Amino acid sequence: MPQYKAPIRDIQFVMHELLNFEAHYDALPAYAGTNRELIDGVVEAAADFCENELSPINHSGDQEGCHFDNGVVTTPKGFKEAYKKYIDLGYPSMSVPVEHGGQGLPGSLGNAVSEMVGTANWSWGMYPGLSHGAVRTVEHHGSPEQKELYLSKLVSGEWTGTMCLTESHAGSDLGIIRTKAEPNADGSYSITGQKIFISAGEHDLADNIVHIVLARLPGAPKGTKGISLFIVPKFNVNADGSVGTRNNVVCGSIEHKMGIHGNATCVIVFEEAKGFLIGPENKGLNCMFTFMNTARIGTAVQGLSASEGAFQGSLAYAKDRLAMRSLSGPKAPEKEADPIIVHPAVRNMLLTQKAFAEGGRALVYFLSQFADVVEVAEDAEQRKAADDMLSLLTPIAKAFLTETGSESAKHGVQVYGGHGFIAEWGMEQIVRDTRIACLYEGTTEIQALDLLGRKVLSTQGAMLRNFTKIIHKFCEANAGNPAMAEFLQPLAELNKEWGDITTRIGMKAMQNPEEVGAAAVDYLYFSGYVTLAYLWARMVSVSLEKLAGDTTERAFYDAKVKTAQFYFKKLLPRTRSHVATIDTGLEPLMTMDVDQFAF
Ligand SMILES: Cc1cc2nc3c(=O)[nH]c(=O)nc-3n(C[C@H](O)[C@H](O)[C@H](O)COP(=O)(O)OP(=O)(O)OC[C@H]3O[C@@H](n4cnc5c(N)ncnc54)[C@H](O)[C@@H]3O)c2cc1C
Repeated sequence: MPQYKAPIRDIQFVMHELLNFEAHYDALPAYAGTNRELIDGVVEAAADFCENELSPINHSGDQEGCHFDNGVVTTPKGFKEAYKKYIDLGYPSMSVPVEHGGQGLPGSLGNAVSEMVGTANWSWGMYPGLSHGAVRTVEHHGSPEQKELYLSKLVSGEWTGTMCLTESHAGSDLGIIRTKAEPNADGSYSITGQKIFISAGEHDLADNIVHIVLARLPGAPKGTKGISLFIVPKFNVNADGSVGTRNNVVCGSIEHKMGIHGNATCVIVFEEAKGFLIGPENKGLNCMFTFMNTARIGTAVQGLSASEGAFQGSLAYAKDRLAMRSLSGPKAPEKEADPIIVHPAVRNMLLTQKAFAEGGRALVYFLSQFADVVEVAEDAEQRKAADDMLSLLTPIAKAFLTETGSESAKHGVQVYGGHGFIAEWGMEQIVRDTRIACLYEGTTEIQALDLLGRKVLSTQGAMLRNFTKIIHKFCEANAGNPAMAEFLQPLAELNKEWGDITTRIGMKAMQNPEEVGAAAVDYLYFSGYVTLAYLWARMVSVSLEKLAGDTTERAFYDAKVKTAQFYFKKLLPRTRSHVATIDTGLEPLMTMDVDQFAF
């Protein structure tokens, strides 16, 4: 079972050398003073907590799973104690504004903590992760009274939160949910309905659970325009903020599922439960997007975590495991066989995991800087520009990093050979735990439609151009450096091609809108590979500069350049197949009648 080791040096590389977080924070008055010492202190302390408290209960939590007994859910051994420590260390309040009882640290710094929590123990991390989204929803859309009643306990971690959207017949299509909200004379609402697949919906970690629930008011318009958002606590909250009587919210059962066994996935039944409208009537989905966007970046982190975790395990195993000899002659003649890391096919898997983990980290942290600007920048234009970038990059990060995380996890099993299939080695758990990331928070197909349809085509390419211009400028600025040529040439070509394929799809979509559905997933992959290529090229630029100077870390920077070379030569050519598939369009998908699929 691999023990998690936080990749502190790589996190520091991304935060300090690639993205200059200190300067980024200095430019935002709300975060000024978040200096390198503070950043490193937070990262190192969180690394210690994740390595020593969360990683040791990751495998046992998977094996034991959650227990359900007549509506009561008990989490696996050690989860409650780790949660208590997490609260005592102040993590839940870290990136909440001071006026809401938080420490006011940047969300992007919280993101670094989330990465380590997620890699050490994703199932456990979902409990505080969902609360974080609930905090943001109440913070942004709650009335002053709601903030007063719910925020302080959520922020301290004494209570946790959930996100109750899905119903048995409605997941991707929330426009057809049926849960009802009837107004009461006292201004509250009676919520009736059943939600399924509610993560952290019931557990023994906290004194109260605040459900954030989508439901319909009487006479509400059909579809997504008739959905409102409600706070429904497990225990009613007294006027003084203390926990009161039990509300009519019960956990009907927990799911037996492929992975994330340590996290309770619950059926939550509301029977005239007392709820409170949050945000305007029928605007629930808009408000919920605050929660969902946070959760989507969080899910992108899950993909990065899977790549990192699978890579750590695979690398240790590949250095140790002996099998056959290198084709060019023994590399460890003193041993009875060579370690498998000598074999090109094994290196291919390891380097793929490494390129996705380090590239994914760069993407998530890059994205989190835009999220900071949206959150606290004083200038409205700056906030709008950052919001546009965040809108474009979120579906790419969510879907691409979760799919590549799944691929890395699959390679993890393969590197371990038959042992990869055996539970005690830990690799099969990563495959099972991370597979859900491609499904929840909008499946890959839904993210792809969001990217191509809503973000790119419906803005006539404006959002995309904002980003391709940044890539173009980067290529121009580095054009004079011959050592960068091998990266800049393919990057510049693909950057241009991004615009060209968008135009081609757009033209076809004018004839038949289904062309968008046919192209979207390949388009998303293409976008993901180009986005990571841009970030890898930037990492090379930083590394070459360091290598040209007087550094004691030559091997580290040289490894960055070599990983980038691998990425550009072995992974980036996958874009060609995506372009070819996009260009064959809709027709091969739709000519078959439904009756012809099977005889
Ligand atoms: C472990 C787990 C935890 C979860 N946690 C939560 C939670 O905390 N809160 C919550 O509310 N929900 C949660 N969910 C629900 C999750 O978000 C949904 O399962 C997910 O959004 C997909 O919805 P669905 O299952 O109804 O699939 P469907 O919407 O039925 O989709 C089925 C398939 O059709 C595809 N599809 C559907 N429409 C289109 C389209 N227009 N174009 C192309 N393809 C399409 C989908 O991509 C998918 O492949 C969780 C689910 C699981 C399994």
